[in-house]
Amino acid sequence: MRVNEIFYSLQGEGFLAGVPSVFVRLAGCPLRCKWCDTKYAWAKDAGQDYSTAEIVQTVQKWPCKFVVITGGEPMIDSDVSQLAQELKAAGKHITIETAGIAYIPNLSCDLMSISPKLSNSTPEDVKLAALHEDSRLDIAVLCELIDNYQYQLKFVVDSANDLPEIQETLKEIGNVDLEKVMLMPQAATRDELLAKSPIVAEMCKMVGFAFSQRLQVLLWNNKRGT
Ligand code: SF4
Repeated sequence: MRVNEIFYSLQGEGFLAGVPSVFVRLAGCPLRCKWCDTKYAWAKDAGQDYSTAEIVQTVQKWPCKFVVITGGEPMIDSDVSQLAQELKAAGKHITIETAGIAYIPNLSCDLMSISPKLSNSTPEDVKLAALHEDSRLDIAVLCELIDNYQYQLKFVVDSANDLPEIQETLKEIGNVDLEKVMLMPQAATRDELLAKSPIVAEMCKMVGFAFSQRLQVLLWNNKRGT
């Protein structure tokens, strides 16, 4: 598998925010979110080749039960199935972070952390925008993911204007447990996070969704490898 980086930190986002976790970042993503904070992992070859056994061995360097398979977009790599199986055999709790654009059945996954991309993610560049729009939202895949895995749905919010689109997306997916929906401020820096958090907090209070922290930005200002 092509691995961009493996590091030990705290989970920064979602219902497991604050839990010490080892992150396995796989290379490659077909989307081009304009505010993406891991552009260095976009290319399929942005990393080094590891066997699944080498990844498990590296993960075990740290005394930590929680492993987050992230990207890039890990669900486009069919070997993720084998990797999750081996990590599970090693006693790990596995979160897979995905934009919800590809489905793989029967994964050993304890938490599918799905972040469907709204139109606020679309880049300005016309060519990139076309590429992005082509695959950023796949309702059928989102339905399969929530029907078959324990999940959380994290929406990245740029402004209060995003709310109707979030509600429309939830309606299209249908069957979503609203207690598993989270709103997370779009913020690449600590200043941006602190400025947007109160707006997102008010949205959460208004509609009853949970607020998702971005601890990695708050604590380390989005330094790579955190
Ligand atoms: S889906 Fe994730 S990795 Fe891919 S461009 Fe968007 S934010 Fe970046």
